[in-house]
Amino acid sequence: MSHAQVPSLNTTHSGVPERLAIEADAAKARLCSFRTLPESKPRKKAVRLPPNTSRDSFDIAINALVSILGEKGVEVNDKELRDGWYMEHPNTHDAFHIVDQEEMVCSALAYPASVSEVQAIVRWANEFKIPIWPISMGRNLGYGGAAPRVPGSVVVDLGRNMNKILKLDENSATCMVEPGVSYFKLYEEIQKRKLPLWIDTPDLGGGSVLGNAIDRGVGYTPYGDHFANHCGMEVVLPDGSLLRTGMGAVPGKDGADNPTWESFQHAYGPAIDGIFSQSNFGIVTKMGFWLMPESGHQSYMVTFPREEDFEQIVDIIRPLALKRILGNIPQLRHAVHELAVTGRPRATWYTGSGSLPRAAITQALKTMPVGDVSWVFYGTQYGDVASIASQLDIVKSEFSKIPGSRFMLPSELPADHYIHSRVQVCSGVPILKELDWLNWKPNAAHLFFSPITPTDSKNARIVHNLIDKLHQKWGFDTMPTLCIAGREMHYIANIVYDRADEDEKRRARGLMREMITAAAKEGFGEYRTHLLFADQVAETYSWGGGALRKFNETIKDALDPNGILSPGRNGIWPKSYRGNGWELIGQDSLESVAAKL
Ligand code: ADP
Repeated sequence: MSHAQVPSLNTTHSGVPERLAIEADAAKARLCSFRTLPESKPRKKAVRLPPNTSRDSFDIAINALVSILGEKGVEVNDKELRDGWYMEHPNTHDAFHIVDQEEMVCSALAYPASVSEVQAIVRWANEFKIPIWPISMGRNLGYGGAAPRVPGSVVVDLGRNMNKILKLDENSATCMVEPGVSYFKLYEEIQKRKLPLWIDTPDLGGGSVLGNAIDRGVGYTPYGDHFANHCGMEVVLPDGSLLRTGMGAVPGKDGADNPTWESFQHAYGPAIDGIFSQSNFGIVTKMGFWLMPESGHQSYMVTFPREEDFEQIVDIIRPLALKRILGNIPQLRHAVHELAVTGRPRATWYTGSGSLPRAAITQALKTMPVGDVSWVFYGTQYGDVASIASQLDIVKSEFSKIPGSRFMLPSELPADHYIHSRVQVCSGVPILKELDWLNWKPNAAHLFFSPITPTDSKNARIVHNLIDKLHQKWGFDTMPTLCIAGREMHYIANIVYDRADEDEKRRARGLMREMITAAAKEGFGEYRTHLLFADQVAETYSWGGGALRKFNETIKDALDPNGILSPGRNGIWPKSYRGNGWELIGQDSLESVAAKL
C-alpha cells in the first residue's frame, strides 16, 4: 500500500474531512507498518461470473448495462484485488476476507446516478437474471464489507454518484440523505451551516448514514439506535417500482415531498419500514433521520479491578439505564481494549500464541494510566451543568459500591488516552481513532460476534463465559465491547485475525461457528453477523418450526420472483436458490467454500 495522502472529502464522497487529514495519514502509516501482505497479487481466476452465466451471455448483459448507464457507469471486476484500508476500501470484495480473498467477489460494478437509473438496473437484472448487490458506502467491515453473498453478483455502488444531503432542517432537527452521505459529510455540512444540531456516529465516521441504519448499526449519543431514529424511506422494489414509506406516501402540495415525511414514523396502516432493514426486499434510495439538538455533555470512565466484578457492574447498570439516568448507549469494555486502543501491537506485551494469559494482561496494564483493572465503563451524561452534576452524583454513588472501582474524568487522563475519543464520539463528532486497535496483529482484520444479552448478571455471565472459553479454545484474545441499551446489551466480541495467516482465518471461522451454536443453545441470538454466517444465525431464529424464515421467504418470493436482489442476505434465499447448496449451515459448509479456490 503506497503511503500517499488519504483522499479528501472535498474530492470524493468516501474521503476524509480536512480536520482529520493528518490523523488519517498517521493511521494509514501505522497500519501499513504492520502489513506484510503485498498491496495486491495477480488474480487466480479472471472475472468471477454470476451463477449459471456463460462469459458470452455475461458480455451481452454488460453491454446492455453500459447502454443504460454509459461507459463510466459500469466496471467489470477483472483487475487485481486490493484490500486497501478503512479510508481507501474496496467495493469489489470483502477487504476483511475470512475465506480466500477471491471467493467473495463481484463480477462487475454499476454506478447509478439517479433513482431512475437504480430502477433501470433492477429491470436489467430481471431481464438477464443476474443477481445484484446494492451497497451504500461498502464499509461494513467485520460483517462482509462490500462483498456480495453470491460471488459474481453485480455490486450496485449507490454511494459514488448518489451522495447528496437532500434536506437539513434546523427547526424540525431532521435530515433526508442519499446512500453515499457519510457521517463525516453530514457532520461537516452541519458545522458549515453552523446549525445547533448533533448527528449520531458509530465509532468510525466513514460509513454511510443510510447504510448503517438499514443494517441496524449503533452509535453512542441518546440517538444511538440508528434505525429507531430514522424517519421515512424511499425504496426501489425488486420489480423496479418505487415506494415511499411513512408520511412520504402522502403526496405533498403541488408535487412537493410530504412535509411530515421526516417527522412521523408510523403513518397509517402497517408500518413497513422494518422489512427493508437487514433484508433483501428493496434498495433504499433516500432515508430521513432525526438529529439531536446540541447539548451539554460530560464523559467519564469507571474502572473495576476484578474479572468477577462483571456481575455487579451489570446489575448496577440496568436500573441506571432503565431510568434513563444513563441517557446514551454507554460501553463496557474488557481491559484488554485498554492495550489495543493504544495502537500498539499485541507483540509489545506478549509474543506467545493462544489467548493472552491473565498474568501478561496484568503486567501490561500496570504500565497503562488505568493500572491493573479488568473492566472499563465509558459513560457520558447530557444536559445543563446542574443536571449533569446531579446525574453524576448518582452514577458515582452506584458504581462506588464495587470495592476498588475508580471514577475518572477526561481531564485526569493523559492527552493521548482513548477517553478523549469517547468524548468526541459521544457528542456526535465522527472520528477515526477506533482504527487503532487494528494494529493488534499484522495484516489485521476483524470479525464481530454480536449476541443480544439481557442486562442481568446471570445471563450476561453465561454469555461472557461461553465466549471467553471458546476464544481460549480457538486461540484468540477475548476483547468484548458491550453496548448497553437498557434491557439488553449488544455484546460485541471483536475477533482480530491476521489476513495473511490461513490457519488464523480457519480458527476465526471455527470460533464464530461454535459461538453461534453455543449461544443459541442457551437461548441467545445475534443482532447482526458477517454474511458468511448469515445462514447459521438465521437458522437459530427457529421458533415455531422456522415461522420467521417462512414469513421472510413468502415476502421474498412475492416481491422478487426472479431472486435478483441480494440473494442470501441475512439468510433469506429466493425460491430458485433454496435447497440448492447455497446455504452455509453445518460446521463444514464454510470449510468447503474456503477450500474451493
Ligand atoms: P456502511 O458502509 O455504511 O457500513 P454498506 O454500504 O456497506 O454500509 O451497507 C451495509 C450492507 O447493507 C450492504 O452490504 C448491503 O447488503 C446493505 N445495503 C447498503 N445500502 C443499501 C441500500 N441503499 N439498499 C439496500 N441495501 C443496502
